[in-house]
Amino acid sequence: MSSRRLQQIIPSVATSDGAGVSLRRSLGSVPEARVDPFLMLDEFSSDDPDDYIAGFPSHPHRGFETVTYMLDGHMLHEDHLGNRGDLLPGGAQWMTAGRGIIHSEMPQQESGRMRGFQLWINLPAAEKMKPASYCDIRPEQIPTVVLPGGGEVRVIAGSIAVGDREVAGPVQGISTEPLYMDVRLPSGGSFSQPVTPGHSAFVYAYEGSLAIGDDADARPLPAQSAGVLGGDGPVAIRAADGPVRFLLLAARPLHEPVVQYGPFVMNTREEIEQAVDDYRNNRLA
Ligand code: MN
Repeated sequence: MSSRRLQQIIPSVATSDGAGVSLRRSLGSVPEARVDPFLMLDEFSSDDPDDYIAGFPSHPHRGFETVTYMLDGHMLHEDHLGNRGDLLPGGAQWMTAGRGIIHSEMPQQESGRMRGFQLWINLPAAEKMKPASYCDIRPEQIPTVVLPGGGEVRVIAGSIAVGDREVAGPVQGISTEPLYMDVRLPSGGSFSQPVTPGHSAFVYAYEGSLAIGDDADARPLPAQSAGVLGGDGPVAIRAADGPVRFLLLAARPLHEPVVQYGPFVMNTREEIEQAVDDYRNNRLA
């Protein structure tokens, strides 16, 4: 089977969110720039505390999951249920907002580098009103697989085949069956990974540009862009132009209507109105 081809490029745009955190948004920068079931991908990366220090004070979510993956820096998560979680460099947090969570995500440093990603994944209609839950993943819980031709992969969700064994990430049992990998390749290195046929897939190049697809007709993906992949075959990526780092994401599409109003993502306008009303009247969760 031929490898998935680069079908669409979604460049990231500089924006700001929370109380004034500078970030680059690719998926979700406009409503059309979604890859079902993925709603949004933000990259934050700065050595300047003014870009991140204000953080994300108390705010609500309903109807989807947020996945925060830290490369550098330290954030503290606190929610209205009394849960507290430390996000450490190399660690992650998988939060299922379900019917509602009100939380804050605040930097725990006044200097140094803050770098990472927040991904939003939609929930199926049947799960949008389930109770909120979350899972803090310590850095050492994320397996690192060294690739035979050089480079390495960290497996956050889903699993990777290494020879005749499977290495599974710490996040399992999500109904959209997500694959979340952080890949580093040396110049000239390559990476291939099967993805379930019918599942959506995209890559986000965060350092360097990638060549995507079979060698004969590989297409370039510029740095700090999301590349949406078409077809049903495996993903094939080469570092044709220097060393690279990228995320690979895949999941089962929901094929359900999406109505978003800020931090609420539901299937109908009425459900959004209900969410706003519930939040205003302290009934969100
Ligand atoms: Mn949040």
